[in-house]
Amino acid sequence: MEHNEKWPLFRLIIPVFPEVNIFSRVAGKTTALGPIMVATSASKLWGWRVEVIDENNCKGAPLDENGLPDHSVLQAQRPAEVVGFYCGLSSTMSRVWQLAQFYKAEGTTTLAGGWHTYYAPEESLKKGIDLVVRGDGELVIRQVLTHLAAGKTTEHLAGISFLDSQGTYNANTVETLEAVDLNTLPYPDFGLIRFAKIKIFPIGRIRGCSRKCEFCSVKGKPRWASGQFLFDQVQWLVETRNAREFFIVDDRLEEDREGALFFFDKIAQTYGQTLDFTVQARLEAAEDRELLTAMRKAGVSVTCIGYESPIDEELEAMRKGYSSRDMLRWTKMYHHLGFFIHAMFIWGYPSKKISELRLDAQERTKRFKKFIRQAQLDTVQILRAIPLIGTELRNRLAKENRLLPLEAVPWEKYDGSYACFQPDDMNLRELQEMPTKLMKTFYDPASSFRIVLRTIAFPIDYLFRGWDKWHRGWRNDLRKYGGHVYIKRWLKCYHRDNFLEKLEKMDANSIEGRS
Ligand code: SF4
Repeated sequence: MEHNEKWPLFRLIIPVFPEVNIFSRVAGKTTALGPIMVATSASKLWGWRVEVIDENNCKGAPLDENGLPDHSVLQAQRPAEVVGFYCGLSSTMSRVWQLAQFYKAEGTTTLAGGWHTYYAPEESLKKGIDLVVRGDGELVIRQVLTHLAAGKTTEHLAGISFLDSQGTYNANTVETLEAVDLNTLPYPDFGLIRFAKIKIFPIGRIRGCSRKCEFCSVKGKPRWASGQFLFDQVQWLVETRNAREFFIVDDRLEEDREGALFFFDKIAQTYGQTLDFTVQARLEAAEDRELLTAMRKAGVSVTCIGYESPIDEELEAMRKGYSSRDMLRWTKMYHHLGFFIHAMFIWGYPSKKISELRLDAQERTKRFKKFIRQAQLDTVQILRAIPLIGTELRNRLAKENRLLPLEAVPWEKYDGSYACFQPDDMNLRELQEMPTKLMKTFYDPASSFRIVLRTIAFPIDYLFRGWDKWHRGWRNDLRKYGGHVYIKRWLKCYHRDNFLEKLEKMDANSIEGRS
């Protein structure tokens, strides 16, 4: 690394989604917490300047001919000596490699960290990344930057000083100690992001998960910072950035129930319901009335819940930990307390043994439709199972020889919108098309008329049914119309790509080859 007279710059990049997806709209109002935490930690290091570019939230940045942030201009204006890439999502990896190669050609040192590179470091090391960090990045980034500033190369760093007891993984990978005390981390500094407008502030205190869902890549014994630590973060963001809306990114906030109760009670005492929180929780947390009541009093409005499926055999294959029996009852309990529910489903989960599940695609779809109607969910996302790298699901499908090859379905298709495996109880077309049909039924275009009708009927509806019921219907129709627009945009890209036709051709050839 070359030295210049000014402090060197560390630029951390959150790569853009390859195409419009279910998270695109919200991504333009928020950012990813992990890279902000790493950047914040690096910014406390004397001798380094730090900035973050979130390509999904980048208003006013110089753009290239594809409408993406133009890194040649960014680099010409303010050259970075070290660039880090957030590799938490497999679907964004091709953008990471494209940028890594550009920055390498500029003589920049390139680093990567996140779940994808955690499980597949070698792949990125061959595509322009100098050093992969596995595990928590907050402490290791400071050590890496200190060593680079002292003139060491990434080869010198590999395998030394940051390794845990499991040892070295390969020549250009460093492993960070997992036991970072989360209470000692700095508050996320959103001032480090250039060009972004943050409306929804991501915050969190829990890492890891004690459950073992087959499709999930969140691993590691759960550990957490205190409820007080999270409260202090909120207070600091309210005071310094006038933050009002928060997304608590913890995968399962009830993992530390006492801490959660403390946090929500303290928020309610200090701010009443003037702040807005979106959280992720398990469906069966509905049984914990004390926790749910505390959440409502603190201003939690939306809970994102992984329902996954209303079909017992699928829930069992996923190891979700409950059956469909209580799902409607739990949903009612959330609704009764006034929560909006964003329900996340996986359609067509690959069965473990063909004999276990004999439902055809139509029957599955019927069951999903019936459940969604009965549960009166506010918003839904219905995706295909994603055999993410590092998951047991991926290992199982690989053993059964059912993973579609990466040449046909590359990582950028790993966002739930595309079939990534060969189903054994339906055909590829059904796996690809049924979830979209279900989404289209839910997010219907007639919602635009209902918005108008509800607005006109507001005074009477308000008088008879009250604000809450009117507002829920109006808000949900607004979301449904937004969802309808998103699906239309996505379908446009999808049809242009001929994804299904290519897949079916490949499938036919491989059947021919086998016979
Ligand atoms: S899906 Fe949720 S509950 Fe299951 S392992 Fe992942 S984080 Fe834990």
